[in-house]
Amino acid sequence: MNRFASSMLRSTTTRSAALTAPMRQYSTPATASNFVKIVEVGPRDGLQNEKQLIPAPVKIELIERLANAGLPVVEATSFVSPKWVPQMGDNHEVFSKIQKKPNVGYPVLAPNIRGVDNALAAGASEVAMFTAVTESFNRKNTNCSTEEAIDRMEEVTKAALDKGLKVRGYVSCVLGCPYEGVVSPIAVAQMAKRMYDAGCYEISLGDTIGVGTAGSMGLMLEEVVKVVPAEALAVHCHDTYGQALANILKALEYGIRVVDSSVAGLGGCPYAPGAKGNVATEDVVYMLHGMGFDTGVSLKSLVEIGAWISEKLGRETNSRAGAALKLRRESRL
Ligand SMILES: [Zn+2]
Repeated sequence: MNRFASSMLRSTTTRSAALTAPMRQYSTPATASNFVKIVEVGPRDGLQNEKQLIPAPVKIELIERLANAGLPVVEATSFVSPKWVPQMGDNHEVFSKIQKKPNVGYPVLAPNIRGVDNALAAGASEVAMFTAVTESFNRKNTNCSTEEAIDRMEEVTKAALDKGLKVRGYVSCVLGCPYEGVVSPIAVAQMAKRMYDAGCYEISLGDTIGVGTAGSMGLMLEEVVKVVPAEALAVHCHDTYGQALANILKALEYGIRVVDSSVAGLGGCPYAPGAKGNVATEDVVYMLHGMGFDTGVSLKSLVEIGAWISEKLGRETNSRAGAALKLRRESRL
């Protein structure tokens, strides 16, 4: 870790206790890895929220280019009913046609046993599933109570593990719910622990509507790291209020070294009209490299991919670093 990264982490233990989480002795940062694993979610979480249908060959090219840019994990598609998510109706075609690289993970979303079976039939070796923290979100989105959602998650996780799949868990709405507002950090911690205990190797904490701040992120992580090791946690920040990078920085202070992001900031949020999507991978990588962290990702390639997919979608990139770096490159030509 370089000087900047270590001084950033050191400073967190000496800052005055004030507006955010209570002072704590971080258990991991002093020794935490200098490598941050980026989980690219653009092809699934990003495109899923795009209104226009994207042809399968474009999705396949996107996934392959992202893996070639050095991303260690590219979430590829979702095995949900096309009735609910028409954008992912080509899941089998997309997943089975990707030229897969040996050291890259290609998880797919599989919310139920049928989804797990379909993922397996397409050749997946890793699935992801999600449960929201709040009762109203679960009722509106999955038509069941939180307790029922947890039971279902445990059942589907067990079925996937029994079939030899790795399972990644998402907890949704960790910093705010579109229906209930403020979310209890203790409830998030309990949910994360249930997923961890069910056998999920990694739990991604999702600020699904992007309302969190470094303050609420700190308070939430304070509880979660008491029950799930930081090494098994990821953060998944949406940039609705422009807080995603700050929130990721806060997560790094807690020893978290896995960050979900989406090239060109693809996506949106169906619960916050007009909102921006996931934090852009280009922005995250630009920040991390500037702090001396290693990601294994080529920022140059990412910028090209972001510009290419934005053009395919007929709109500007949502990545600030992507737009700035592209302009800089063009002005030098
Ligand atoms: Zn998301």
